[in-house]
Amino acid sequence: MKKNQILPFLFLFAVASSTFAQDKSLSEHVILISVDGFRPEFYLESQWPVPNMKKMVEQGVSSKGVRGIFPSVTYPSHTTLITGAFPNEHGIYYNNPFEEKGQTGRWFWEYELIKTKTLWTAVKENKKTTASFLWPVTVGADIDYNIPEYWYLEGDYGNIKPMRDFENPKGFLQEMETEVLGKLNKSTFNGDYLNREDRIGEMAAYTLEKYKPNFISIHLFAVDHFQHEQGKEGEKVYTSIAAVDRAIGKIMEASKRAGIEDKTTFIITGDHGFVDIHSAINPNIWLVELGLMEDKEDRGNWKAAFHTSGASAFLILKDKNDIETLKMVQRKIELLPNSIKKLFRVVERAELDKIGADPSAALALNPIPGVSMSSNSNGAILSPKKGGTHGYFPDFQQIETGFLAFGAGISKGKKIDKMGLEDIAPVVSKLLNLNFQTKEGILYPGIVTEKK
Ligand SMILES: [Zn+2]
Repeated sequence: MKKNQILPFLFLFAVASSTFAQDKSLSEHVILISVDGFRPEFYLESQWPVPNMKKMVEQGVSSKGVRGIFPSVTYPSHTTLITGAFPNEHGIYYNNPFEEKGQTGRWFWEYELIKTKTLWTAVKENKKTTASFLWPVTVGADIDYNIPEYWYLEGDYGNIKPMRDFENPKGFLQEMETEVLGKLNKSTFNGDYLNREDRIGEMAAYTLEKYKPNFISIHLFAVDHFQHEQGKEGEKVYTSIAAVDRAIGKIMEASKRAGIEDKTTFIITGDHGFVDIHSAINPNIWLVELGLMEDKEDRGNWKAAFHTSGASAFLILKDKNDIETLKMVQRKIELLPNSIKKLFRVVERAELDKIGADPSAALALNPIPGVSMSSNSNGAILSPKKGGTHGYFPDFQQIETGFLAFGAGISKGKKIDKMGLEDIAPVVSKLLNLNFQTKEGILYPGIVTEKK
């Protein structure tokens, strides 16, 4: 071959190899960790014991705050993380569905309730593998290795059996018990202690090392549990965020042992922030006074009810077109003394549409920070309450969650001032080259690198 024939050949080769590079994923293993009640302060302020997260801030991408959805509670927020859609599209409006004949305590547990495409499905369509640990709304999900978050109403919350009954594949939990966890029971896997975080970290670490799935979603919840109990600065909030960081460390070590460290990406995020509270409003008392519901478990003969979801309350009308009842409620609120009215604001239907909240709610009540809505339908309109909560309209800093990304395909040392919960699924999609389209989310291209 003469020199002038070699050059075009080399050019073609270069074009072909760059096309190949574009087709290749930026990452082969994405670990999406949701820390329930995760606040940006945990990695931005020095007093929190999170060495792994602080390393991620230095060497990866971090956000000062992630704006959530309404209500800013766990199940709808996790479903936004995994779909990039708002509740009005994905269908998980609250933690607990509103039940006409009174609340039984059931949650939105079943995967079939999600109405939009999820990242797990998109990963599978791409002939890649998935795993998930204690992620909300995954009972019955088509996930290759799945331990769902689930409990039986008749049993107690700490029961291991529901997880065994709905695990995938069958025997997966037992395999992990034999190989790494030890026997799981109420002593060794208990939400009132930190061993639950340890075990979930070990499950994910074992599965990553052994089966090397391309996408793992993990839900760690002790930080939420103890912020509810003790408020944002509680002693156990420090120990639980340390346990979370330790669980992350276990998974990072597993990626090293598996020899896939340079092909693995970690995304640490959450579902909502937290607010310390002192008092609660019980708006169903107004409905009882108006004769629109009865002070009974099943609401008796009812026309309207406030469905509380964390700090906020959503007005549900038995007949969606019952304008007369809606006007009675609005009038009642208008005529309240200013001393009560100043404690909350009404979120009208147009605003609920804009934020993508439950399409069947007529309006919502959003209290000021420090105050929470409560479902009581008798007693005083205001009652004492302590600890912390969330569920507020997501328009203030305290209720925002955090975002950290680190590893394969992630820019180094970048800060994102503000992003939305719906903007996280597009990052996973880009990293795994999924072409997963979301209506609400957008990829901030600065988060990812252009090549490996
Ligand atoms: Zn939560």
